[in-house]
Amino acid sequence: MKALICKNGKIEMVEKPFPEIQKNTDAIVKVTLSSICTSDLHIIRGCVPAAKNGIVLGHEFVGEVVETGDNVKNFVKGDRVAVNCETFCGECEFCKRGYINNCINGGWELGCKIDGCQAEYVRVPFADNGLSKLPDNVSFENALFVGDILSSGYWGAELCEIKKGDIIAVIGAGPVGLCAMQCVKYLGAKKVIAIDIDETRLELAKKLGFADFILKFKDCEKGIKDLTKYGADAVIEAAGSDDTFELAYKIARPNAIVAIVAMYEKNQILPLPQMYGKNLIFKTGGVDATHCKDLIKLISEGKISTDFLITHKFYFNDIKKAYEIFEHKQDNCLKTAIKY
Ligand SMILES: [Zn+2]
Ligand SMILES: [Zn+2]
Repeated sequence: MKALICKNGKIEMVEKPFPEIQKNTDAIVKVTLSSICTSDLHIIRGCVPAAKNGIVLGHEFVGEVVETGDNVKNFVKGDRVAVNCETFCGECEFCKRGYINNCINGGWELGCKIDGCQAEYVRVPFADNGLSKLPDNVSFENALFVGDILSSGYWGAELCEIKKGDIIAVIGAGPVGLCAMQCVKYLGAKKVIAIDIDETRLELAKKLGFADFILKFKDCEKGIKDLTKYGADAVIEAAGSDDTFELAYKIARPNAIVAIVAMYEKNQILPLPQMYGKNLIFKTGGVDATHCKDLIKLISEGKISTDFLITHKFYFNDIKKAYEIFEHKQDNCLKTAIKY
C-alpha cells in the first residue's frame, strides 16, 4: 500500500506492506479521509523528540474497520469509525483518571511512534478505546476532526472551567482555536473574544457565530481592557508563538485560568517576579481526547459542526501538494481533507 513517511525531515511517498493485527486488541482501519495537522509539521521540522524517524505520518482520520483482533468487542468489519489521535489502554492509573494522553501503554502514538493514517490502511491499537462508531447521519467529512482538533478544542474549553457569565479569550483563530471557541460557547461562556493576526480567520470566527468580538493581535491588549475591564476570565492559547504565549498571561485577569493548548517549538519564559500576586492558573499539554463519542453525538444532533474547516480537498496521491498549501496557509487554507 501507499504511505507517506517522514525521513530525516523530509516527507516521502513509499510502498509499505499492509498493516497486520499484532495484538488481539488491535483493529485495522481502511482510511477513507485523513487530514494534515500542525503536529505533523512539528515532526517534519524535528521538533517532536518522541517521533520515530521514517514513521508514517498522520493521526487525524476516519475510516472503515476491515479487520479486528480476537479481543476487540465493540467493533466489527464494516463499521464506519472516527479514530482518537491518542492511543490508550483504558486500564492504567492515568487512563482511569481520564488522563489518556499520559496512558503508560499509549499516548500520542499514531503518526509519531507507530505508523499513522497518511496511508491506505492503519493499525489502531486498543481499538475498543480508540474507535468511535459513526451514526448514519454523520458522514466521514462531518467526523473527520473528532479525534484530534475538535477534541483539542473541547479539551481547551473544558480546562477553562467555564462559569456562567465568563468572558473567554481565544488566541489563534486557526482550526483548533475555532473549535475551542465553538466548544467554549457550547459549555456556556457568555462572550468569546477571538484574537489573531489573520483578518480572514477572525471574520470567519465572527461569521460562524463562535466569537462575539474579534481583535487583531496588534493592540489587542487595549481591546481586551475595553471589553473586560480586568482581563479575560480564562484564556485559551491556541496559536503557539512566543508573542502569543506572552499575550496569554497578559490578557488574563487575576486568578484566571490560562489554558495552553498550542504546541511550541521553543521554550517559553514566565516573568514570575512580575506575575507574583496575579495568581494565575496555568494548564498545559496535549489533549486528553475522552469525549469523542459525545462530540459525535453533538455533531449528529447538529449542535456542533466542523464542516467549515475543510477548505481544501486532495487525493492521497497529491498529499505533498496538500502539505505545501496547509503549511503556508495558501489560499486561506484552514484544513485539508485527503481522499483515498
Ligand atoms: Zn494533531
Ligand atoms: Zn492507559
